[in-house]
Amino acid sequence: MLVIATHNAHKTDEIRAMLGDLAEQVTDLTQFPDIAPADETGTTFVANATIKALAACEALPAGTWALADDSGLEVDALDGAPGIYSARYSGEGATDATNREKLLRELEAAQARGKERSARFRCVLVLARNGEVVASCDGSVEGIITNEEKGDGGFGYDPLFVPEGHCATFAELSADVKNSLSHRARAVEALRQIIADRNLSLNYGEAPHSVNA
Ligand code: IMP
Repeated sequence: MLVIATHNAHKTDEIRAMLGDLAEQVTDLTQFPDIAPADETGTTFVANATIKALAACEALPAGTWALADDSGLEVDALDGAPGIYSARYSGEGATDATNREKLLRELEAAQARGKERSARFRCVLVLARNGEVVASCDGSVEGIITNEEKGDGGFGYDPLFVPEGHCATFAELSADVKNSLSHRARAVEALRQIIADRNLSLNYGEAPHSVNA
């Protein structure tokens, strides 16, 4: 049993597709309504991913694998913002739509000062079990920010991000294409390598009671 330490169904769908046969049973925190989201008080992706993974471990039955993803968009013209604040960029009550609006506004102002539109998505994954971090790895994908939203797939900043080597945003590309080259895909690939090197099995562990095995 592997629990992805997120309430974001988009992340779960992507990670589940990428894990493939690495884990037989994959679920996320939406299946555990009593577990509140962890406070992301860290100042780096790895710190926040670690907080989320260990908080999930503590709340889940012993032996359960927890996998946390902390990810975000770094825009060069904005000195790396929104970065770890990607989910809450536009303040209290932020939604993907209000975050994208703010990003376009800020970038327009920065462009007027001659800045470029280069950016990257970053993802850190932390795997933990029984209160200990077992592995951490990361992945990133370079790209540029468009002038306007394009496409309706994906989530978050996908309608604004064109990955290097492509002419369409992540929201226009198919899920298969995004999942083959995204920051998350690259982090999962690194995790797959660690799991193979250490001969780990993500299938061992008690099934939490709230899940129908
Ligand atoms: P977290 O849940 O604290 O890790 O915040 C992640 C935030 O980064 C999301 O809410 C999105 O705004 C952004 N983000 C991360 N990964 C992606 C992606 O694959 N596509 C679009 N936005 C993403």
